[in-house]
Amino acid sequence: MAIVTGGGRGIGKSIALTLAEAGADVVVTARTLKLLEETADEIRKLGTRALAVRADLTSEQDVEALVDKTISEFAKIDILVNNAGAIQSRPLVEMPGFKNYLAKLVPDFYTPFNLESWKDEIDTNLTTAYLATAAVLPRMIQAGNGKIINITSVEPLRPGSFHVPYSSAKWGLKGFTRALALEMAKYHIYVNAVAPGYIYTEMSSFWHDDPIVGKRMFEQVPLQRMGKPRDVALAVLFLASDASNFITGHEIPLDGGFCL
Ligand code: NDP
Repeated sequence: MAIVTGGGRGIGKSIALTLAEAGADVVVTARTLKLLEETADEIRKLGTRALAVRADLTSEQDVEALVDKTISEFAKIDILVNNAGAIQSRPLVEMPGFKNYLAKLVPDFYTPFNLESWKDEIDTNLTTAYLATAAVLPRMIQAGNGKIINITSVEPLRPGSFHVPYSSAKWGLKGFTRALALEMAKYHIYVNAVAPGYIYTEMSSFWHDDPIVGKRMFEQVPLQRMGKPRDVALAVLFLASDASNFITGHEIPLDGGFCL
């Protein structure tokens, strides 16, 4: 039984379907119920049970309700995939006279971050994982097993410009993964991460589809293709399965060689 956050579209949807194909019952959660219901319907067609739960994962109350609903329906939680996230592209501070091509693609590109948008980025990419994990862990500790998989990014290893808060949050999520793995090892709760590079999804399509930025991105990938959500999902499946039972606290880069 698995919970997949951000399971209504993109990478999260592919993870949810891939875990279901392997036989898992799946709860998908995010803020847009319609997309979650669609994913849940597709999962049921694969022959396993599914539940769509609307939650803003930055809200402690929503996360508690999510876990309560999951337990009342499935009685246990074996796997948690912390996939929900979002990226804002803009400079950290004002850069007078500065002009950049990205301003053509990104609304409000020249509005620098402020405390509110900084906190929003950290909350969406890091606090969501903390809240979901903290709510699920007591059940896993009681059961004496569990698999937690965090979707980080190669960004902190090879940062893209104008993503300082996103990179900071994802680096934080990597630290969260390593520190928690140590703390939870005695309960046989495995905590690992998958760090995607360029994956073509709704979140990233406006970059890929732009002729100039898309070409530049393509040229940086030695395997000469963009990643697919399914590439990430298969790495998550490995980390969720018994095949990875001697691995904890690690991050699998999934980047077609981008970081080489
Ligand atoms: P999408 O934007 O397609 O999906 C993000 C998901 O997160 C959506 O389902 C969204 O649902 C959910 N979400 C965002 N904020 C919240 C919130 N506050 N509460 C609940 N759910 C939330 O992005 P991708 O599929 O491309 O990305 C998935 C993950 O992979 C992210 O963590 C991203 O950082 C990471 N990643 C992606 C890369 C890429 O190239 N695509 C590269 C590296 C990392 P809703 O808006 O309905 O709430």
